Amino acid sequence: MSGNANPASFSATGSASSPVLIIGGGFAGLAAAVSLSAAGKRVVLLERRSFLGGRAYSFTDKTTGDTIDNGQHLMMGCYHHTLDFLQQIGARDKLKFQANPQVDFLHEHEGHASFKCPSLPAPLHLLAGLSRLQTIGWLDRLKALRVGLALQGLNGNRARLSDITVREWLTELGQTERMQQRFWDLVALATLNERPELASADMFARVLEQAFLHTKEDSTMVISRVGLSELYTEDARRFIEARGGEVRLNADVVSVEFSADRVSAVLLRSGERLAVEHVICAVPYFALRRMLPDEVVARWAGFQQLQEFRSAPIVSINLWYDEPVTDLEFVGLLDAGIEWVFNKNAIIGETGKRRQHLALVISGAHAVAQHAKEDLVALAVREMERFFPAARHQAPVHAFVIREQDATLSHTVGTARLRPPQQTPFANFYLAGDWTDTGLPATIEGAVWSGQEAARALLHSN
Ligand SMILES: Cc1cc2nc3c(=O)[nH]c(=O)nc-3n(C[C@H](O)[C@H](O)[C@H](O)COP(=O)(O)OP(=O)(O)OC[C@H]3O[C@@H](n4cnc5c(N)ncnc54)[C@H](O)[C@@H]3O)c2cc1C
Repeated sequence: MSGNANPASFSATGSASSPVLIIGGGFAGLAAAVSLSAAGKRVVLLERRSFLGGRAYSFTDKTTGDTIDNGQHLMMGCYHHTLDFLQQIGARDKLKFQANPQVDFLHEHEGHASFKCPSLPAPLHLLAGLSRLQTIGWLDRLKALRVGLALQGLNGNRARLSDITVREWLTELGQTERMQQRFWDLVALATLNERPELASADMFARVLEQAFLHTKEDSTMVISRVGLSELYTEDARRFIEARGGEVRLNADVVSVEFSADRVSAVLLRSGERLAVEHVICAVPYFALRRMLPDEVVARWAGFQQLQEFRSAPIVSINLWYDEPVTDLEFVGLLDAGIEWVFNKNAIIGETGKRRQHLALVISGAHAVAQHAKEDLVALAVREMERFFPAARHQAPVHAFVIREQDATLSHTVGTARLRPPQQTPFANFYLAGDWTDTGLPATIEGAVWSGQEAARALLHSN
């Protein structure tokens, strides 16, 4: 790749003050930048768009003035790296933590049921929670114990799990169709963003272990009380800038240039060419492939395998009703075309307002992600009428649909083996991002861990 002009700004002379270049301003890039800044390294973060946040951002709805997330994000108590990151940048108090793990479910005919875990040590809290879940027959609840037992004895069997789907694994463990439909499928979709008949059993087992086998606090749901952008982007930027770092928006990297086994420069769409000392590239897998020269891709399987990855979409439908539709903060819908309904007023603590803003989510949304927005709104309204009596005598006054086609990596069987580590064979080039090998699904926690891990590897090698 030819550069124009002379390499600009920070030099490749190897001086101690050369900043680390970070490409990508999502959770992974910001976590890497914050870790390095905290360790006394100067960073320059380049973000293609005019705002930070990547696949987890928010904006103001022009019609209502309300804040909309690009998709409702849920975290869990087991997101230890994310919680540490938010603590480090002073943003942890923007989160809301459940006291005890609780998830509500609604069925059109059978009504409301709660998966509510009492104050018992893990994993007894989980067993007690399942035993009370009334939308599932007692025999099925008993059979769910087999999943818990399988998780406890997984060590020798892990390799086999990476060759089968969630559906195959759960069926092997005697989970009936009803139990899968009414519990496991929602958990798998919410955590892996992929349909159970496609998703890898290994990745699902990892999620269940992380969330349910350690402490009760790990199993609690954690949710942002503010829009996603407000949650972390500006606090992270302030943290970086206060330590001498720089965040550059509208800085679209079109190619990374290599010389022998090292990155030598990056070229921006503006024509600017930056000579570099160290680079952490924290962009999605498809964006990384576009910026790598073919001859460099040919030198490492970790780059070649990028072409095997596929994305899984998420569709979010925001509806506003003049009169409240539900008191629940969030609820899973059983046997429905929508999986989750989030009551934004309750989440942000706006309880006095009558107009209700609901965010509806469809994960692993391959079947509907290409549908017209009007059709998605019609589907959402039908489902709301089916499940909530208060939605039957009123139509939503406003709707806003977001279709994230590349929401996350699709965790199909075999994908885990293709995910590259954060440290590449190229001495000064590191990868971060939820899709890299984190041992976790493509989530905020995976993204933050990958950024921190890339920073750690860089610091250790210098
Ligand atoms: C709708 C939706 C719902 C989700 N729900 C959840 C959830 O409930 N819980 C959860 O844990 N996770 C959830 N996720 C996943 C979570 O958002 C991601 O795992 C996480 O945000 C990924 O962060 P990242 O930094 O790895 O990547 P990204 O956020 O994609 O960041 C990469 C950044 O790189 C920038 N970039 C790309 N190309 C270039 C370039 N050439 N030059 C410079 N910059 C570039 C991009 O603009 C972007 O800002 C959800 C995702 C979506 C889309």
